[in-house]
Amino acid sequence: MPDDTSGDSASKSPDDSADDSKVTPFRRPRKCPICRKPVAAEHKPFCSARCADVDLNRWLGEAYAVPGDPVHIPDDDPEA
Ligand SMILES: [Zn+2]
Repeated sequence: MPDDTSGDSASKSPDDSADDSKVTPFRRPRKCPICRKPVAAEHKPFCSARCADVDLNRWLGEAYAVPGDPVHIPDDDPEA
């Protein structure tokens, strides 16, 4: 049942009244730990998928950099 009495006028809101009070109270200025950019909700806690990947690589890099056990990667191919 179509109700077109007053639907469009209700969606109009004044943006010069109180823009900060109508948003969520849990508004923290979170920044990307990688590049300090504003964090995107879809890539929390990073700003983008790229920074999330950078952080992941950092973790992997630390995992590989084990002290006392230097990783030596042979340059020549054993199958050559
Ligand atoms: Zn970032």
